Amino acid sequence: MSSSTQEYDALIVGQGAAAFAAALYAARYQMRTIIIGETFGGETATGGLIENYPGYPEIDGYDLMVKFREQAEKYEVPIVDDKVGSIDRTGHCFEAKTGLGDTYQATTVILAVGRERRKLGLEHEDEWTGRGVSFCSTCDAPLHRGNVVVVVGGGDAAVKGAVLLSKYAERVYIVYRGAAFTRPEAANLRLLDARPNVERLFNTRVIELKGNEGLSGIVLDQEVKGSAELAVHGLFLEIGADPRTELAHQLGVQLNDGDEIIVDKQMRTNVHGVFAAGDVTDAGGELKQTLTAAAQGALAATAAYADVSEHPNACEVHAVGFSLV
Ligand SMILES: Cc1cc2nc3c(=O)[nH]c(=O)nc-3n(C[C@H](O)[C@H](O)[C@H](O)COP(=O)(O)OP(=O)(O)OC[C@H]3O[C@@H](n4cnc5c(N)ncnc54)[C@H](O)[C@@H]3O)c2cc1C
Repeated sequence: MSSSTQEYDALIVGQGAAAFAAALYAARYQMRTIIIGETFGGETATGGLIENYPGYPEIDGYDLMVKFREQAEKYEVPIVDDKVGSIDRTGHCFEAKTGLGDTYQATTVILAVGRERRKLGLEHEDEWTGRGVSFCSTCDAPLHRGNVVVVVGGGDAAVKGAVLLSKYAERVYIVYRGAAFTRPEAANLRLLDARPNVERLFNTRVIELKGNEGLSGIVLDQEVKGSAELAVHGLFLEIGADPRTELAHQLGVQLNDGDEIIVDKQMRTNVHGVFAAGDVTDAGGELKQTLTAAAQGALAATAAYADVSEHPNACEVHAVGFSLV
């Protein structure tokens, strides 16, 4: 291990689709680029089968992310497995401190930190994500042809998810702890009303997941047709996701009402030198996908390049403790 005192042009926080795409573009612009990300591959890597990434009719999300990483590595972008705990700014220089205690400096920062899915907090929920438990009906609905599935949630996403799933699954249950849906779009509710194979279970909660290697059933907090246990192949959690905003807050980056980072068409935030891409931003509206995240990463790197051209070598003191092994 050796210490380096390199200064970076672009520090990319994250290791998902947005981060790797940003790194690829930044490196091809000859920017001195580094990726620091906590979990390799982000949500794509754990999301199971991907059938809607152009060029790959079917690919496991993890394998797709390996390809993203390999392409960044081809340009010798250092990839550090670490969490960025804080970022401070001095003039045009940003200084990031990580969980492992290292410090990195860069002229621009690209936040590609994604979102934290809300969960039920049940045993096996994480372990069986991609094996029956899903957070994305748009992505996984076609995997459930002829199956029985459950959507948990009572908002518009749950209603839309149930409508989509009902086109594939034999039967769809919507399980919601409230007494009625919370503000679904009228058009989506009309579509749901027209689906004969969807049953609504209000004032009901899922309290246990059943299965061995993956999900095979759920237990509810009350009986439905004589039993509290339902045999199901899929459980879709549509109970929301929260953008990871800690670093944005530290930097004074503006958020919208949904706590998403507000970006312009070039992925610039309100803070000069700070860009954002992927699910953490308001850029793609409701369409939070691998493809859109990657595209936004490319845009963010392009805007960062323009910024670095304006303020080259903005950091005088170099990164501390970075190991180039
Ligand atoms: C179950 C599931 C299935 C899906 N299926 C599909 C599909 O079939 N097709 C599709 O297009 N999309 C799918 N998606 C959506 C897709 O995965 C996301 O849109 C995409 O992952 C967003 O990429 P991102 O780079 O913005 O964020 P993420 O993939 O969430 O990556 C965020 C990265 O930031 C890192 N990070 C966070 N905070 C820090 C920090 N402080 N320091 C360092 N690193 C940090 C994380 O560890 C992670 O590496 C699915 C999502 C889920 C949950």
